[in-house]
Amino acid sequence: MKRHTLLIDADDTLWENNVFFEKLIDDFISLVEPCGYSRAYIRHILNETERKNIRQYGYGVRSFGRSLEETYLKLADQMAQREVLAKVHNRVMELERTPPKILDGVPETLAYLTARHRLILFTKGEPAEQAAKVERSGLQGFFEAIEIVSEKDAKTYGALVHKHKIVKTYGWMIGNSPRSDINPAMEAGLNAVYIPHVNTWQLEQEAVLAGSGKLVILPAFRELRNHF
Ligand SMILES: [Mg+2]
Repeated sequence: MKRHTLLIDADDTLWENNVFFEKLIDDFISLVEPCGYSRAYIRHILNETERKNIRQYGYGVRSFGRSLEETYLKLADQMAQREVLAKVHNRVMELERTPPKILDGVPETLAYLTARHRLILFTKGEPAEQAAKVERSGLQGFFEAIEIVSEKDAKTYGALVHKHKIVKTYGWMIGNSPRSDINPAMEAGLNAVYIPHVNTWQLEQEAVLAGSGKLVILPAFRELRNHF
């Protein structure tokens, strides 16, 4: 088989990520609920606040913590308590320290793939935070390069193709997010492997669009062995 270039996403593709955020959000909503709002409404306001803050501060735990705090202050208004804010802050700090929980079958599959193809880790987020996660994962040795960007869109995919001289016919993006992994990669002319994760973040969901490249949908990361 010809050597392909595989761009591989990290959060919720190589390790669990969003499930930890969801747990924290669930507890956060329980803290805000006594202010008299429905859980769905609190989540809606949080999502709106996150969208706004991502545009300004990017992705990452700190931006997320800021969104929780703003949501609380907005909804609790006069009822806001300093202790609740401190509790939320501590939970966010805890989240930042949580070591990556590698998904099933990932290390052995990466070992198989890296012997045959060129692997590049491609993730978005706050650079220092993502780099620390990659380092703690112990997986960086499987990759020829680690690329961290603030947003994964057709433009950043195009820049990556250029930088690493990727032949598009032999270039693939592998990930769990339609919005950041599959659709922009295909828009940039690459092929894609979509590996859905049950805990994919609401802000990453969208319909998978067909492009000119190939699209493969797999139920688990280890299934990549059967395709490469
Ligand atoms: Mg992901």
